[in-house]
Amino acid sequence: MISFAQAQDKLHQLCRTWLATYPDASEPLALSESLGRYLTQDVIAALELPRSDVSAMDGYAVCSQDGEGGLTSQVFTLIGESRAGKPYSGGPLAPGECVRIFTGAVVPESADTVVIQENVERNSASVRMLQSTPFGANIRRRGEEIGAESVIATAGQLITPNMIPLLASQGIAEVKVRAKLRVAFFATGDELKAAGESLGEGDIYESNLASIAAVLRYYPIDLINLGVVEDTPEAIKACLAEASNNSDVVVSSGGVSVGDYDYVRQCVDAMGVVSDYKVAMKPGKPVCFGHIDGAKNGQTLFFGLPGNAVSSFVVLTELYLPVLKYLLNGQRVTPNTQLEAILETDLSRRSGRLEFQRGLLSQDEGTAGRPSLRVSVMGSQDSHRVLGLARANCTIKIAADVEHIRAGSKVTVSVFPWTDLQ
Ligand code: AMP
Ligand code: MG
Repeated sequence: MISFAQAQDKLHQLCRTWLATYPDASEPLALSESLGRYLTQDVIAALELPRSDVSAMDGYAVCSQDGEGGLTSQVFTLIGESRAGKPYSGGPLAPGECVRIFTGAVVPESADTVVIQENVERNSASVRMLQSTPFGANIRRRGEEIGAESVIATAGQLITPNMIPLLASQGIAEVKVRAKLRVAFFATGDELKAAGESLGEGDIYESNLASIAAVLRYYPIDLINLGVVEDTPEAIKACLAEASNNSDVVVSSGGVSVGDYDYVRQCVDAMGVVSDYKVAMKPGKPVCFGHIDGAKNGQTLFFGLPGNAVSSFVVLTELYLPVLKYLLNGQRVTPNTQLEAILETDLSRRSGRLEFQRGLLSQDEGTAGRPSLRVSVMGSQDSHRVLGLARANCTIKIAADVEHIRAGSKVTVSVFPWTDLQ
């Protein structure tokens, strides 16, 4: 059995090798279509920002004498106006002249200071300073925010809504992003029935396929759902062959423990390499990953999930999702957000494996106006308990050697990616 950290390392290695073999999965996409996708190239500024010296305020752009700015009582002759989209066109100002100017408008040549309108007394043809303004004030300098040819976004970066004002303001219509990752997935288990089918004795409704699709739909992934496969080596091999021909990653559910009908591991072993199959994590010890070789498109990664609904969910979100994001961004393994929170009640458990207990994270007023994060444990932690999972918004990570944690202690929580704190 390997530790969770070792499993993470091995998966990282496996994915790094795979990425080195298949490096060119890039496609051009209209900026408007690119939200939620990962850049495969740095984005270089097409324009300096601002493109010229512009005013930061509504007021008067003055050409001062001898670098003194606008001094109290000084009078400037008003000779024109500069507004957004209509710069002043009368050429350089002479010392002692000024133009009316508005926020964002181009500062005329040789004007050196913008005096805000509240600080002047305006007459029809002149402006008198009521208060001094330092030389150079209230001007946003050309290229001050973004220099020519500077890198404004980097390869591997996820395109999020807050990046759109930047990219759009550069006149960028198209970006290069990673092509969608193709993930084929299937479930094994003769007891599994689809919703709508009647349940015989011992049957259960299949839930991991829907769960895998629900987690992965937040990412640029083409999901290929291959349904439920019979618990026989022939059926599983046929499914693995089909899955690996059409995907970059194959995800399976169930059939990876040591029962008589758990054939997934031996099938992957026969068709490629099982890198590891037991990880000291709870829930989810029977975890099996590696690669399948000889598919139409070469090598396909294989990530096996345990069958229990909660184990399957936790292994997917805590162990595989960070490397799936690595496959997408090409740069780094990206776990769920990890936070420190105060545990609400005492916690006891058996040591031995890194445990991910389902928890509910909340934010309260805290002390001295500093909000504090608190987390409570969702009752029983058995690996089939879907009710606790449904009510949780994070997992509480308990190190392998820890048995008791007192209420009030700090614990690390791993936040579900879709959680907004309530
Ligand atoms: P297995 O890993 O195949 O031994 O399955 C472990 C437990 O999880 C068994 O009780 C299965 O019935 C259950 N299980 C397996 N696959 C699924 C699935 N796709 N949906 C819901 N439960 C499952
Ligand atoms: Mg099974």
